[in-house]
Amino acid sequence: APKKVGFIGLGQMGSRMAKSLLHCGHDLLVFDTSTTKLRAFCMETGVNSAASPSAMAAEASIIFTMLPGPEHVREVYRGSSGVLAAEHGLRAALLVDCSTVGPLAARQVAAEVAKARLHRGAAPVPGCSVAAPTIVDAPVSGGTTGAAAATLSFMCGGERAAVTAAEPYLRLMGKRIHFCGGPGNGQAAKVCNNLALAGQMAATAEGLALGARLGLDPALLSGVFNASSARCWSSDSYNPAPGVMEGVPSARGYAGAFVAELMVKDLGLALAAARECGGWWHWRAFSTKLCKSVSWHAQALWF
Ligand code: NAD
Repeated sequence: APKKVGFIGLGQMGSRMAKSLLHCGHDLLVFDTSTTKLRAFCMETGVNSAASPSAMAAEASIIFTMLPGPEHVREVYRGSSGVLAAEHGLRAALLVDCSTVGPLAARQVAAEVAKARLHRGAAPVPGCSVAAPTIVDAPVSGGTTGAAAATLSFMCGGERAAVTAAEPYLRLMGKRIHFCGGPGNGQAAKVCNNLALAGQMAATAEGLALGARLGLDPALLSGVFNASSARCWSSDSYNPAPGVMEGVPSARGYAGAFVAELMVKDLGLALAAARECGGWWHWRAFSTKLCKSVSWHAQALWF
C-alpha cells in the first residue's frame, strides 16, 4: 500500500515543498496551526488535513516538518497534541525536520524521539535497519525559489540508515543531500552556512546601496562584483538590488522571501551553538553586530 506522507508547516517553504511531494504522486496529509494557510493549501490541492500532529502521527508513516524555529518544533514534537503524544498510537516511523532550529534543539528533540522509541514501538522504518521512530534533521538551503523548483540542498544529521531511508523523499524536493553526521550535525552545518551568508548578504546590500548613492547602476556594479573579488551567491544568484535579476525576491518587492527576522533567528542559533561549545568569545562581537546589521538592513536596505 502507498505510504501516507505527513507535512506540518505550510508557510513560504513548506507549502512549496509539500507540493513537490504531491506532484510526485505521494498520498499527503497536512497540518498547520494557521487555519487560513491550512484551508488555502487544502482547497488548492485537494489534500486532506489532520486535526493535530498526534492525529497525523497515527496515520502517516513518514512526517516532514517545516516550522519557523526551535519553540515551534518542540511544540509540534513534544507538545500535548504533538507527534510524540502518548495517547495516540504512533505509526510515524521516520520523522524529518527541515526547519532551521540549530543543533541544540535538534539534539533535544532527537533525545525525546529516542525515549519514545523505548516506550512505544512504531512499525520499523521501511527498507532500513533503524529502530523506529527515528528523526533526521534536514535543514535546507536554496530559498523559496529552490523550494518551488525542487532544487533545495539538504544538510542532514541522524543515523546514516535513517538519512538513506529519507533520501528518496528528499530527492523529490531537492538536488543535493549532504550527510553531515549524527543527530544535530545537519543543523550545525546550516547555522554555520547562514552565519557566513548573513555577512555576505549584508555586505553586498551595503556595497550596492553605496554604489547607487554614488551614481552607479546596481546592475553594472553587480557585473563588476561578479567579475571581481566581491562575487558571491548574494551578488550572482540572489541579488538584493531591484532590477538586477529576474525571479528573485528583489524583483517582486521582496514578497515570498526569507524574511530578515528568520535570519536574525539563525544568527541567534549560531551564537547559542557557539556559546555551548565554548568558542563564542572569538566572534561574539562580529555575530552580534551582524544581527543588528541584518535587522537594520531589513528596514533600510534591500534584504
Ligand atoms: P513561514 O513562517 O512562512 O512558515 C512556517 C509555517 O509554520 C507557518 O505556516 C506557520 O503557521 C506554521 N506553524 C507555526 N507554528 C506551528 C505549529 N506549532 N504547528 C503547525 N504549524 C505551525 O516560514 P518559512 O519561510 O517557510 O521557513 C520555515 C523554516 O525554514 C524556518 O526555520 C526557516 O529558517 C527555514 N528556511 C527558510 C528559507 C526561506 O527562504 N524562507 C530558506 C531556508 C530555510
